[in-house]
Amino acid sequence: MKTNVVPFGPVNIGGSKFAVIAGPCSIESEDQLLSTAKFVKESGASILRGGVYKLRTSPKSFQGLGKSAFDLVRLVKQETNMPFISEVTDPRQISDLYDLVEVFQVGSRNMHNYELLKELGKTDKPILLKRGLAGLVKEWLLAADYITEQGNEKVVLCERGIRTFETVTRNTFDINAIAHVKQFTNFPVIADPSHGTGVKELIAPISMAAVAAGCDGLILEVHPNPSEAKSDGHQALKFDEFEKIMTDLKKLLPVFDKTI
Ligand code: PEP
Ligand code: MN
Repeated sequence: MKTNVVPFGPVNIGGSKFAVIAGPCSIESEDQLLSTAKFVKESGASILRGGVYKLRTSPKSFQGLGKSAFDLVRLVKQETNMPFISEVTDPRQISDLYDLVEVFQVGSRNMHNYELLKELGKTDKPILLKRGLAGLVKEWLLAADYITEQGNEKVVLCERGIRTFETVTRNTFDINAIAHVKQFTNFPVIADPSHGTGVKELIAPISMAAVAAGCDGLILEVHPNPSEAKSDGHQALKFDEFEKIMTDLKKLLPVFDKTI
């Protein structure tokens, strides 16, 4: 089916251009975000990611800087001129985040949060809707309908792996889901091999597989010093590892009539 084109700020998702969204799992400091943003931009990423509000399994884990990150995000956006995506974890955050982000991310844990989806459907910002950790593709598509029913058609799906019996990877990246979305729906789809594998050595090969399956872009976690990351350090790419993926993507994408 024909894929919708959804603008993430100045970057179109779903056309012949392939989009790379990159940045840290959580925003930790100005230095961390700025150095990462500059590097990923130079390597060809067009959208910056960074968690401000984090949904963590343990309440004792770092929960994100919240509002105290807003000023530094503004500064980094100004310096790099990159559109910014961040997760909205609660409808009460929508109005505050509205002026900060070009794209609202709905995290895996909130795919079934229908009140959040309905509220986002009343906004005019694009939404990146992650698949729930145990979400059927059918349920994921119905979750997207909760947003579009309210009038916001700017929905992009994100496959980020599902929980299965397998334990060598954090999640099982469902390549079938990407092919399914492309064949049978109009939604663009972004692949998240960072959460999809949770193993940084597997991110490069699964990124290439996702391109071959037809994804419209990738979202990748990058950190200047993964061993000190406050979340998801085990799956964060170092700068040189990210750069190598970008080099490989630039070789692979033309096979599928796409460019970065
Ligand atoms: C994230 O993108 O950092 C994140 C929390 O992802 P997910 O919702 O897919 O677990
Ligand atoms: Mn993460």
